[in-house]
Amino acid sequence: METNEKKNDIEALKKELLSNAKNTFAVMSDEQLEAAQVYAEDYKKFLDGGKTERECVKEAVELLEKNGFTPYSFGKSVKSGEKYYYNNRSKSLVAFIVGSEGIENGVYFSAAHIDSPRVDLKQHPLYEDTGIAYLKTHYYGGIKKYQWTTIPLSLHGVVTKKNGETIDIVIGEDDKDPVLYISDLLPHLAGEQMKKTLAEGITGEQLNLIVGSRPYDKDTPNTVKLAVMKLLNEKYGIIEDDFLSAELCAVPAVRSRDVGLDRSMIASYGHDDRVCAYPSLTALVSQNAPKHTVMAILADKEEIGSEGNSGMQSAVYFDIIADLAKTLGVSDAVVRANSKCLSSDVNAAFDPNFPSPMEKNNCCYVNSGVVITKFTGARGKSGSNDASAEFCGYVRQVLDGAGVVWQTGELGKVDAGGGGTVAKFIASKNVDVIDLGVPVLSMHAPYEVVSKNDVYMTHLGIKAFFEA
Ligand code: MN
Ligand code: MN
Repeated sequence: METNEKKNDIEALKKELLSNAKNTFAVMSDEQLEAAQVYAEDYKKFLDGGKTERECVKEAVELLEKNGFTPYSFGKSVKSGEKYYYNNRSKSLVAFIVGSEGIENGVYFSAAHIDSPRVDLKQHPLYEDTGIAYLKTHYYGGIKKYQWTTIPLSLHGVVTKKNGETIDIVIGEDDKDPVLYISDLLPHLAGEQMKKTLAEGITGEQLNLIVGSRPYDKDTPNTVKLAVMKLLNEKYGIIEDDFLSAELCAVPAVRSRDVGLDRSMIASYGHDDRVCAYPSLTALVSQNAPKHTVMAILADKEEIGSEGNSGMQSAVYFDIIADLAKTLGVSDAVVRANSKCLSSDVNAAFDPNFPSPMEKNNCCYVNSGVVITKFTGARGKSGSNDASAEFCGYVRQVLDGAGVVWQTGELGKVDAGGGGTVAKFIASKNVDVIDLGVPVLSMHAPYEVVSKNDVYMTHLGIKAFFEA
């Protein structure tokens, strides 16, 4: 063969046989790139409006009601085409559209979570030390504690008062609001601290939120705590014991912003996992008279193991599916056996700044599209769902069929660490499930980064799954 001919032959064979990594910028049309930018603006509003699971539920309900969804209650008779949502204790949400085909063919659902790592208040949080008032905290989810110092923090949550009334609290989100703050040591005097590991440099008991320094009475010592309590009482009518029946947390008091001079990325608190919760919602509301019964689950408590009655291990999610099955006269075991699920959660994007824990052939990349994660877990895949070849093949066909740019990814090198998602709790109910979501830089940091194209591809991917 001539040299040129040989070269062409090799190129053709490569194209035919070898996998080609795709970059969204190389394959998306100008219209799609613009659509991703527009989609990102709405997503940013969702991020800024929902920094806790409770706030996300409120936002989701608003979006769903605007799109014709109404509250579901157990035992309700339902008809094809009807749209419902079930608000579970204001902390998690199930929304669905009854399909035109029989529910015995299964429910097609996406399950994302709306809780994010943060710093929760303890139940006796308020104290005063040397002229400064603080709130004691207990961190929630996996955080690098040192990242939560010296940044503006806002206080979010609810307090149920002695009389049973529950009030919402948000302090620090309005530009005119004060913020809370966790201090760190100045470098000049940090000789001892700097010798410690990153894990030990700031301890859990040092994550104390500064809330005040002005005494109630200038002539009476130790009245700063009292002054703070007085302010809270004036504004919210609460007393110190009310912290006992409260869920309050500190989150970064920062808004989502575009990252990069080209505005190709978004930085925000809580991309994990609102970056999959939002596309799950938008994919659902884009459905009109779907063939399958389609559903979006926004679960709570994923970051602490999907526990509690609002976490994915709660019976509520499959109780709803069972209730629908009963109403429609079908065995819920049959419905589950034929159901398909995307466990919509993030994966760690390859970071050129920190390449060492990643295995380059099997990690996911920013701007390479929505990422399918066949298995999670730690060590020898321990604690992983590990989706079947058949289901991987199914999802692959669905995504390809809809022109969705996708990649696969494993969470780091073998034995580098590990993690889990809600997938295994869904799989245990005899449902085919695979993880799918967005690659994230600096996952679990107070300010995380994702690519707009990847977010948009996740929306398109979940949409294609609902329409498959
Ligand atoms: Mn997650
Ligand atoms: Mn997480």
